[in-house]
Amino acid sequence: VSRSSSPLTVELERRKCIAVMTSGGDSQGMNAALRGLVRMAMYRHARVFLIYEGYQGLVQGGDLIKETTWYGVSHIMGKGGTVIGTARCKEFRERWGRRAAALNLVKKRITNLIVIGGDGSLTGANLFREEWPELLQELVEEGNISAQEQTECDHLNIVGMVGSIDNDMCGTDMTLGADSALHRIVEAVDAISFTASSHQRCFVLEVMGRHCGYLALVSSLGCNADWCLIPESPPSDNWEKKMCEQLCRSREEGARMNLIIVAEGAVDRQGQPISSQYVKSVIEKELGYDTRITVLGHVQRGGAPSAYDRLMGCRVGAAAANAVLDADKDNEPVLVGLQGNRVVQSPLMKCVRETQGIAGAMKDGNFKEALSMRAGSFVRHWATFRRLSRYDKLPVVPATEKLRFALLHVGAPAAGVNTCTQAFFRLTTYHGHQVYAVHEGFDGLAKGSIQLLDRSQVLKWSVAGGSHLGTNRSLPSKEGLPLIAEQLKKHRINGLLVIGGFEAFHSLCILEDARKDYPAFCIPMLNVAATISNNVPGTDHSMGCDTALNIIIETTDRLKQSAVASRKRVFVIETMGGHCGFLATMGGLAGGADAAYIFEEKFTISDLQNDVRHLVSKFQQGIWRGIILRNEKCSPYYTTDFITNLYSAEGGELFTTRSNVLGHMQQGGLPSPYDRHLGVRFAKCSLDFFLDHCTLEPQPQCSSATACTVGMRARKTVFTPVSELKLRTDFKNRLPLDQWWLELRPLLRILAKHRDYHFKP
Ligand code: ATP
Repeated sequence: VSRSSSPLTVELERRKCIAVMTSGGDSQGMNAALRGLVRMAMYRHARVFLIYEGYQGLVQGGDLIKETTWYGVSHIMGKGGTVIGTARCKEFRERWGRRAAALNLVKKRITNLIVIGGDGSLTGANLFREEWPELLQELVEEGNISAQEQTECDHLNIVGMVGSIDNDMCGTDMTLGADSALHRIVEAVDAISFTASSHQRCFVLEVMGRHCGYLALVSSLGCNADWCLIPESPPSDNWEKKMCEQLCRSREEGARMNLIIVAEGAVDRQGQPISSQYVKSVIEKELGYDTRITVLGHVQRGGAPSAYDRLMGCRVGAAAANAVLDADKDNEPVLVGLQGNRVVQSPLMKCVRETQGIAGAMKDGNFKEALSMRAGSFVRHWATFRRLSRYDKLPVVPATEKLRFALLHVGAPAAGVNTCTQAFFRLTTYHGHQVYAVHEGFDGLAKGSIQLLDRSQVLKWSVAGGSHLGTNRSLPSKEGLPLIAEQLKKHRINGLLVIGGFEAFHSLCILEDARKDYPAFCIPMLNVAATISNNVPGTDHSMGCDTALNIIIETTDRLKQSAVASRKRVFVIETMGGHCGFLATMGGLAGGADAAYIFEEKFTISDLQNDVRHLVSKFQQGIWRGIILRNEKCSPYYTTDFITNLYSAEGGELFTTRSNVLGHMQQGGLPSPYDRHLGVRFAKCSLDFFLDHCTLEPQPQCSSATACTVGMRARKTVFTPVSELKLRTDFKNRLPLDQWWLELRPLLRILAKHRDYHFKP
């Protein structure tokens, strides 16, 4: 954004032509990436050509390579698949096909190519780049291009992005489409669970993933599956017996259904496929359970892209445009992906080789090697699942050494809280320890509303949002502190887990301060960040905000549809978040908003006037709808009504304006796959933290490192003492002082066609 816009730079970039294609299997999020890169490239004055039908279009040329405009990529972000088509192309595998492709590009002076596809497509692109000088020489010799054209187009820059629902590529934590595919799987499991419970059935769900078990593993973690089979880690030879034991145990403990998730590429140790049919026959033969198979198939590729895939698409797409425009002939091709919440570039062919190395290791039966080559988090998630499914027997903990953890929910409801509670319970009891559930937050604890949690109770809990334990916003009061201390002492609690948002964090600060007066608080205490607002210090993401974002974009999609239908409508959408503008910003980016007003970025009436004028000019150019997001506390003066009235007054004949306050809708709904996954991940880390720090008696000398918030920083789970976080917190406005997502504000403006960006924190 701060790039120099000197006339020379503008002129040089204006001459640059970029072509983009989607290739291989389609996936959700490809359209968001396309939109992001087209708009960022145009912001930088470049010309962009869309290649239709993948490499087929590149080889064939003609109408299959067309220059696009800013508005050429409007209304595509919410669509699944790829609007420019994809194909597998035999001709491009031949030298003559690639020569024809080179001719088509040179004739349009295109020397920058962005490919969104899998490892095959990216390998093809790399080969094309390597052969480029020879291909051009052959074209000159054949008389198809001139020497001047050869000189002007002497090298080809390549940038890749990965579109694949399987999440099977090295160099990026997530591939475009994987999160949306998880949404489809989780929706299916939730639907199946009701009928399975009614009939006390066992369901074998087959999901995609020929070489990668990511979808199967992550959905198993988030959906309480009893068993999971993935290609990277074939089960031990007696797995059928172990699986049946686990299914039986679940039923004895009160479960009315069982769920087994099988990746389509699951194999045994001899490399022989394990089919869903085989799993079903084992269960029917050994246990006599009524067992059904559901093969999800292409449903996983379908449907609207999730908020995550749209956000990722916007970010990697824009970064890919920047990468290709900044590249020169000495740069090797790069793959643009995400590591945690950071956009990163990695050498393209290194990523392809590593990806193919995993597939090769599995083919050769080196499963240990294959698993170790997957990202570290994959291995850790697999280990967590094995714990949840009680795969290995642990030594029995003597009654005198059992640890007791109290768990409570504090603050407003956030999706994922129940998943986290359930997973914490399952993991803790597997390790032989106990969980005490506190009802109604700290008020409940002070009143003695605390009881030992048992499995039959937990198994009955649905995956619903909200809080099964009950929650409220009360902080531990001065009068309440001795009562809370007494309850912890009475129940001999060794560790306290507080799941919740800013109030949960604040409560922990209060309890830590009170340690000197109450030895009962000298136990390890942990706050798991859970709030839709994402305003808990110490984490990039809190549980619940992904679900809320998905609700916001679903609503935005509907409003957009209504606005487009009436041809002249602007919607002002008010989002929650207190003073935190995370939901408005990310919802605005993922929903393709024209502006998003937040508290952290001060704005004046003249900023509003500029934005209104900007929208008026868009309508004059033929745009049919406007979407404005406004955080509920962005300004006490420029209220939702004020902004709606302002746009109404200025819209004149061009558009009318309506407002929509999303309100508590954002706190409801079933948790998204990401929030479920985060819940399980936090539960596992919390237990590890307690096992590392807990002792059988409170430790009056305990350090501040035993009162922490657990959160995500980039791709890592981190524990930060609340005493440290306090210093980096704005308690008045309930905000962390460092908020990583603010760096995405310029992108939101650029993708909405604003040329100005003045950040005023
Ligand atoms: P997916 O992971 O969805 O299968 P992919 O990109 O790996 O995606 P492929 O079918 O392997 O899908 O490749 C798509 C297209 O890329 C091929 O049809 C072909 O046109 C081109 N391609 C793949 N590999 C090569 C190669 N080695 N040389 C030239 N072109 C290739």
